[in-house]
Amino acid sequence: MHEMSVALAVVDQVEEAAMRAKDVTAVRSVRLQVGELAGVVPDALAFSFELACAGTLLEGAELITEAVPGRARCTPCTHEWAVGMPPRLTCPACGGTQTDLLAGRELQILDVHWEDGGPPQVLTREPIPEER
Ligand SMILES: [Zn+2]
Repeated sequence: MHEMSVALAVVDQVEEAAMRAKDVTAVRSVRLQVGELAGVVPDALAFSFELACAGTLLEGAELITEAVPGRARCTPCTHEWAVGMPPRLTCPACGGTQTDLLAGRELQILDVHWEDGGPPQVLTREPIPEER
């Protein structure tokens, strides 16, 4: 299951950041940016995240997902549109198929709340590695 590998990667990244920070005893919440085209089902991810957190510093942490709508731009005519789901990658203006995906493949941690109640820690915004 793709969501499980994503969840494990998120837990790994947060734990690593927590090790570098001082006095982190637990993680309250993790905010994750998830592109519409990243191929991740939010419900499945929430479920996997709960399992992946068990027995770690993140146990009981809340996963907040922020959806990013997919957007594409036509190279020949520069028209931009929301690709939707299933994604429409043919230009609605000219029918062209040379398109750039501007947004929608994001999969990264935005910030993390530690147990100390301080302001959210912004991680390095490294993308979650894709499955090989
Ligand atoms: Zn076009």
